[in-house]
Amino acid sequence: MSECTHNCSTCSANCSSRKEPQDLHEPANAKSNIKHVIGVVSGKGGVGKSLVTCMLAVLLQRKGYKVGVLDADITGPSVPKAFGVKSEVTGSEDGMFPPETEKGIKMMSVNLLLEDERRPVIWRGPVIAGTVKQFWKDTIWGDIDVLLVDCPPGTGDVPLTVFQSLPLDGIVIVSSPQELVSMIVGKAANMANMMNIPVLGLVENMSYAVCPDCGKRINIYGDSHILEIAQGFGYDVLGQIPLDAKLASLCDNGTIEELDSDYLDIAATVIEHRLGLGE
Ligand code: ADP
Repeated sequence: MSECTHNCSTCSANCSSRKEPQDLHEPANAKSNIKHVIGVVSGKGGVGKSLVTCMLAVLLQRKGYKVGVLDADITGPSVPKAFGVKSEVTGSEDGMFPPETEKGIKMMSVNLLLEDERRPVIWRGPVIAGTVKQFWKDTIWGDIDVLLVDCPPGTGDVPLTVFQSLPLDGIVIVSSPQELVSMIVGKAANMANMMNIPVLGLVENMSYAVCPDCGKRINIYGDSHILEIAQGFGYDVLGQIPLDAKLASLCDNGTIEELDSDYLDIAATVIEHRLGLGE
């Protein structure tokens, strides 16, 4: 064993005098200046994690911040489609340039690199995790106030690697009422605690629907328990989003920047304050 450097954060030796975990964070590209990184996580795919990531990106951009989205959901990439971005990624010897939306949100996604975006990505975990690290290291993000990471779904190996490799300032947990919410939140909370990453709060998607005729709120999946669950963990509920055909069509048409609902306005403001943005 080499001589002790007394700096546990850079040392990989598992010796008896270790006082703190090794820092596994990858360095960002030399031409990136990213102030804050937020992970958006969920227990499984299809609960609206990408929708929430895109909505938060739009709302934070509207508040005047420089926003980027790293689409780490490699097997289900949907960020470019929601923003209607099809541009090819160009590069230089320093790295890849992230394409921008109409309003200037930068993004990197595997869908922007595939020849045919409809072709499924069938990669094993380590390749997926390696791609996410590359998006972090090889993308020339430039100046970014908030980089939102649409994390791979679940709490397995791949999201864990993302958690370890990127310097996350906090996570937002997205769930839907038909899931075993307390279990999902518990697992995500465990993962975040292990890495000392604060949980910024919970978003419940597909919470309810509104009858288009009488305006009555219908709890399609039964009553929501998100408030009690959040309280049990000491987290905030950042927002509840109904099943809303307009949201689905904004994503399908690539026009999410035209978002005109206020479901996540409070969430964006809470995140702004928790990160100390604009101070
Ligand atoms: P995930 O990222 O968790 O896999 P997505 O955000 O891609 O999930 O959502 C899956 C699909 O469901 C998308 O087509 C999306 O537009 C649609 N969707 C998600 N949430 C809502 C909602 N609240 N109302 C209507 N459609 C929704």
